Amino acid sequence: MGLLKSVNKKMTLTKCRAVFLDRDGTVNLEVDYLKSIKDLKLIKNTAKAIRILNRNRIKVIVVTNQSGINRGLFSINDLDAIHNELKKRLRRHGAYIDAIYHCPHHPDEKCSCRKPNNGMFKLAARDFDLKLNKCYVAGDKLADIKAAHNVSATGILVRTGYGKSEQDDLKEADIMPDYIAEDLYEAVKWIIKDMKRGKND
Ligand SMILES: [Mg+2]
Ligand SMILES: [Zn+2]
Repeated sequence: MGLLKSVNKKMTLTKCRAVFLDRDGTVNLEVDYLKSIKDLKLIKNTAKAIRILNRNRIKVIVVTNQSGINRGLFSINDLDAIHNELKKRLRRHGAYIDAIYHCPHHPDEKCSCRKPNNGMFKLAARDFDLKLNKCYVAGDKLADIKAAHNVSATGILVRTGYGKSEQDDLKEADIMPDYIAEDLYEAVKWIIKDMKRGKND
């Protein structure tokens, strides 16, 4: 009985949990519309950060605005090639992404999936049976933080990509990240601590 209890407890600690990652400027270097594999460069310690989440059995889900598609800058095939390469490189370092969701729309299309809107998060919640208010979002833009708060998740601003300049804009913004991290690796260490604090259980 005691064993069963502890097993169940362990399961509830990890079930329905995910960390959503922005892609450009958070996982890989921001290059102003990443169009091809040759410009794909992982930010330092990204694989290490994702590995920590994998080891803790937390889902890792990338949510990325890719308006370059509907702007005609690159195709869905180009995007697929980039994502396959991204997963391959991470795998080489023992890190695994559970899913990638992208929004192809131009901002003028006023879709429901472009961050800060919640479309991609809702879809992932359905696909993975997530409780979004127990999830975390790490990104380099205030739109990522707004998206997090739109679904009652915890939002972490990383100071890679546009993160530093976005931090400067915080004074005028009506939004505050739950934490500001130097990079994804530091963000993940904070997330694990935050989960252990149990505040989010
Ligand atoms: Mg970004
Ligand atoms: Zn969209």
